[in-house]
Amino acid sequence: NELLTQDETSLTVPAFIQGSKKNLIGGKWVDATSGRQIDTVNPATGQVLCRIAGGDATDIDLAVSAARRAFEGEWSRWTPHQRRKLILKIHDVILDNFDELAMIETLDMGAPLKRTTGLAEWTSQVLQFFASQCDAATVATPPNSLPGDFLTLKSLAPVGVVGGIIPWNGPLIGLWWIFGPALATGCTAVLKPAEDASLSVLRVAELMMEAGVPEGVINVVTGYGADAGQALAEHRDVDRIAFTGSIGTAQTIVRASAVNLKRLQLELGGKSPDIVFADADLDKAVPGAAMGVFTNSGQVCVAGTRIFVQRSIHDEFVERMQEFTKTIRVGDGLDPNTQLGLLISERQLDRVMHYIDVGGGEGAHLASGGKRLGGELASGFFVEPTVFSGASNDMTIAREEIFGPVASVIPFDDMDDALRLANDTPFGLAGGVWTRSLSTAHKVSQNIKAGTIWVNCYGVLDPAIGFGGTKMSGYGWKGAKEHVEGYLYPKAVYINLD
Ligand code: NAD
Repeated sequence: NELLTQDETSLTVPAFIQGSKKNLIGGKWVDATSGRQIDTVNPATGQVLCRIAGGDATDIDLAVSAARRAFEGEWSRWTPHQRRKLILKIHDVILDNFDELAMIETLDMGAPLKRTTGLAEWTSQVLQFFASQCDAATVATPPNSLPGDFLTLKSLAPVGVVGGIIPWNGPLIGLWWIFGPALATGCTAVLKPAEDASLSVLRVAELMMEAGVPEGVINVVTGYGADAGQALAEHRDVDRIAFTGSIGTAQTIVRASAVNLKRLQLELGGKSPDIVFADADLDKAVPGAAMGVFTNSGQVCVAGTRIFVQRSIHDEFVERMQEFTKTIRVGDGLDPNTQLGLLISERQLDRVMHYIDVGGGEGAHLASGGKRLGGELASGFFVEPTVFSGASNDMTIAREEIFGPVASVIPFDDMDDALRLANDTPFGLAGGVWTRSLSTAHKVSQNIKAGTIWVNCYGVLDPAIGFGGTKMSGYGWKGAKEHVEGYLYPKAVYINLD
């Protein structure tokens, strides 16, 4: 990638990052009706990058009305072929501008350029996948058992206006899980990004309008969750909410959405088990399990934060993990050598440091890390990748989602023990298993109660296959046809031919 080969000093802040950003409502860029603005900060320096609109219920209402008008207007007559062409056009425009988008994301939420530029290939895949789904509502004529002469038609119709609410840990990924299926199915959308990281979403929306998205089909309202997010969840003219975020917010959204019985998709947190058996290839399992936690500084919903290691190799595994952890380069995301960035905010930093204290207090051994980074990184929210060894599954650090670079290594005796511990959690998002035994791999992956399991790898994701959770990690699959079907409702037409 061009950006990564340049000297750091020549990296320029995109012109997009300046002044006051507006909301996109009905194809127009407008300030929040209240005039309120929110500073958006570079977490690596604490400096204000620019300001975003502090939207509230009034702005959400305007955006939902625009989305409703678009849904019932010309857009409803677009053919699947036209929508597919539009998504492919968006694909090209987004990819042409990806270096800029990656830079915006890095400055706004702190993930290294190595990671954000690397999202280009995934973005290409996700857009091509949703382009391929434009025929999902294809009409079928099923046989029927009715007396007389009936023709039955079954089809899928777009649900209408979709409200999307996403967190700050990967807006450049999260936005496509809303806009992609909305465009593929003929729905319209109002997206509320997280107040800590909205800039890449706003720039993507600008590029999508340039690519030819009709006015009102996509709308973006920035603002705080309690103002704009809550208003979207409560709005009577929103048909579906797709939410990614914390369990507490999800529970509020479930209650708010009852007002008109909205359809819901909830992708929440996790405390995913990653199980390493004594027969695993440790050259792969150690870095694989470590990066399964530390990627994106641990701010990943599927992070494999409970690393269960068979007792006979526990000490060797921990030693090797300590060695590996020392090689990880934490730093400013603009440095092309940086592998791990930082936490999004001071609040998140305090939360992670609190859990590190609690882990030590409950008797886990701090094997690596555990400190906030100082020196030239002191002004940012940097934490060392941290490993607790000899932890137990009932410790707070193994029960609660930390959302930071903190791994708990927990010993186990045999497969039954590993499965019992792995499933002893309220979450069910993901899990991993490292072994050379095919039988172990199958048995464990069948028996972990979670939506996505990785064997001898961690965190890979194909949009055509997708991922999702169970238990308190939420419901509604992301990716694959299940995702697209959530934006459609089935309809049967019975025609009496007599
Ligand atoms: P959060 O729930 O606080 O915020 C997420 C979004 O919800 C933000 O846009 C926020 O403004 C909005 N929000 C806040 N209060 C709201 C309300 N009352 N009504 C409507 N919207 C509201 O979550 P967070 O702490 O910012 O994000 C981290 C959480 O997200 C973690 O728990 C993590 O596991 C989860 N997450 C899950 C996935 C997944 O796909 N499963 C992906 C990323 C993050």
